[in-house]
Amino acid sequence: MELPIFYAPPNNITDLEIILPAEESRHATGVLRLKKGAMVLVVNGLGEGYRGEIRTVGTAGVKVRIHSRIRNFGEPAVRLTLAAGMSAGSKFDTMVEKGTELGVKRFVPVITEKSKVKMEDARRAGSRVARLERVALAALKQCRRSYRPDIALPLSFMDYLKEYDSEALNLIFTPGRNARPLEELKLDKTLKRINLLVGPEAGFSPEELEVALKTGYQPVSLGERILRAETAGPVVCALIMFLMGELR
Ligand code: SAH
Repeated sequence: MELPIFYAPPNNITDLEIILPAEESRHATGVLRLKKGAMVLVVNGLGEGYRGEIRTVGTAGVKVRIHSRIRNFGEPAVRLTLAAGMSAGSKFDTMVEKGTELGVKRFVPVITEKSKVKMEDARRAGSRVARLERVALAALKQCRRSYRPDIALPLSFMDYLKEYDSEALNLIFTPGRNARPLEELKLDKTLKRINLLVGPEAGFSPEELEVALKTGYQPVSLGERILRAETAGPVVCALIMFLMGELR
């Protein structure tokens, strides 16, 4: 049987022992009814997992004695960033949930010209980032990986382009004939970083596309059917992970 999995931030972890945070402790004892001696897996949100044994279940939280440490537990070799048009409501939550399961390391909510969410509203979105972080944490445990994806504060499209990383593969997804079918892309499986850019429901403006291409992004198409933004995000992550040999 698979070991139950918990999250503990690095501050709760010493060489020998881990103290599970309050919520995780409650889950361990209240919901899963784990007792002293039970074996568990703990991830630190930074790419490491620990196999260990519950030693105490007292009010100060569940203490786990570390048996072994596993580096890069459940993590893909490639660092995948998904930047996507920020939307109102819970669509971005879906994108974060599915993207986390697929191995995304960083999410960037992007405000574009045709975004329904405007920058002023997005700036007040601190609480949304906190919510997205909770979504990512739940997804991380569910899919058994150890890196807690970073959720950036919302950025304007142009500010995001300023982060351009010339050593990464940078793809912008856009339907139409001017983009290359994903199938034609020859991916080097040793690539360290890939940045994916997906538009909002109304797509990118011609000016945005032009600037992105000038910056160095390659335009990629997924064929003639138009996917909703919250479908496109997880789909491009899955396809890229497949092409990188990560879905084996
Ligand atoms: N009418 C818009 C469609 C937006 S769909 C347009 O013409 O751009 C929302 C986003 O999902 C797009 O900006 C794009 O990033 C992605 N997307 C959806 N379907 C796609 C396809 N067939 N090829 C490439 N990208 C696609």
